[in-house]
Amino acid sequence: MSECVSHRTNVKARKDHKCFGCYGIIVKGTVVANVTTCVEDGDIYTVRLCDECEVTALEFQKRGDEWYEGDLGEDRKEQKEKEQRQADHVVDLYIERKGW
Ligand SMILES: [Zn+2]
Repeated sequence: MSECVSHRTNVKARKDHKCFGCYGIIVKGTVVANVTTCVEDGDIYTVRLCDECEVTALEFQKRGDEWYEGDLGEDRKEQKEKEQRQADHVVDLYIERKGW
């Protein structure tokens, strides 16, 4: 069980941080929309998300899905791969039809 003890908005990063959702780097000076500090089993951790993950986290929230550290980046990667496969498929169909 984790409990969130503090939540701040639009916080400027004072150093480089790792995004909690995708492990990407949030570069020093970036304004982070939401910074949440939580405690879980006596451990304290801070959740910062990059802009892309803010959007993905909202999508998860809308679907009522839970996510954990690193999940948001994984989800986008899967999404991109799916789109890529679909795009490849369309190209294949096109090539077939053209008889190339
Ligand atoms: Zn991220």
